[in-house]
Amino acid sequence: MIIQIEPNIKEAELQALTEKLESLQYNTSQVSTQFGEYIIGVGKRAFDIRAIGTLPGIRDIHRVSDAYKLVSKKWKVRDTVIDFGEGVKLGSGHFGMMAGPCSIESEEQIESTIKHLQANQVRIMRGGVYKPRSSPYSFRGLGQEGLKMWYQQAQKAGIRIVTEVMMTEQIEDMYDYVDIFQVGARNAQNFNLLDALGKVDKPVLLKRSMSGTIEELLQSAEYIFSNGNEKIMLCERGIRTYEKAYRNTMDVNAIAMLKEKTHLPVIADPSHGIGLRSFVPPIALASVMAGADGVIMEVHERPEKAFSDGQQTLSYQEAERLYKGLRQAYELRSSL
Ligand code: PEP
Ligand code: MN
Repeated sequence: MIIQIEPNIKEAELQALTEKLESLQYNTSQVSTQFGEYIIGVGKRAFDIRAIGTLPGIRDIHRVSDAYKLVSKKWKVRDTVIDFGEGVKLGSGHFGMMAGPCSIESEEQIESTIKHLQANQVRIMRGGVYKPRSSPYSFRGLGQEGLKMWYQQAQKAGIRIVTEVMMTEQIEDMYDYVDIFQVGARNAQNFNLLDALGKVDKPVLLKRSMSGTIEELLQSAEYIFSNGNEKIMLCERGIRTYEKAYRNTMDVNAIAMLKEKTHLPVIADPSHGIGLRSFVPPIALASVMAGADGVIMEVHERPEKAFSDGQQTLSYQEAERLYKGLRQAYELRSSL
């Protein structure tokens, strides 16, 4: 049960509402976000929702029995649009592309990537400064200093930054230099981190974990929303299956299904999704046709020299062709 309440609801009205719900054996939680005030009721008893919908201070009431509620499409008429300012928007008719290296490596690399993005009207740059690596001996990122250096250049160029935050403790230091906090696959069920990102007023790109179900991904998003942050994008980045021919199995099915289950924008990450450069373009295009609102991809001036994930990283020339193809695919899908 989701009850949208008026922001100026009176204390006594709120109390009457919670008492009514408690009398029906519903547990209640209050959620305040950037955009609304909600009471979430969890219980089993069936009742006529008009008994609550007509109480003073109530804007609307919706029956949502899924494990996830606020991120469900069952109560929200319009899909969420995330506004990054200066005309950069994503979701519900706004297609978004995010591109950049797996890892931020140097000032020169940042400069070169930004030029490439600007030449192609791509407004969001990806890159890791804190890298979760399978081996502790691999390159683990330039950290906060790298982020500041990146921010200085990106800001001048009007480019937005999406980068991974690995721990709750990093949020505060990163906050001023980040436009989108990325939650990596390995942290998709780090509930402390999700809670903390729910208290932040910056968009979050939440990746699906390697073995996470669609429902688990939606419940992870619910953690963020229920803590106060509605600006969430979900990302399909491939799951681990028995297939060994490629790094991960890009679950294109999940993109189509997520679009049916949630009002949140869905982003495809074909780079990690298949993990092999030559297959990134077709899988990216397939993802758009399946309903993706955006694509995030790894791009490098010289992929063979990249500090990480070179094997799945596109060259600038390959990326340019793909940006055009993705825009065309999005137009085609929108016209169908
Ligand atoms: C990344 O995008 O840099 C990354 C590490 O991806 P994932 O968390 O999906 O493995
Ligand atoms: Mn990578």
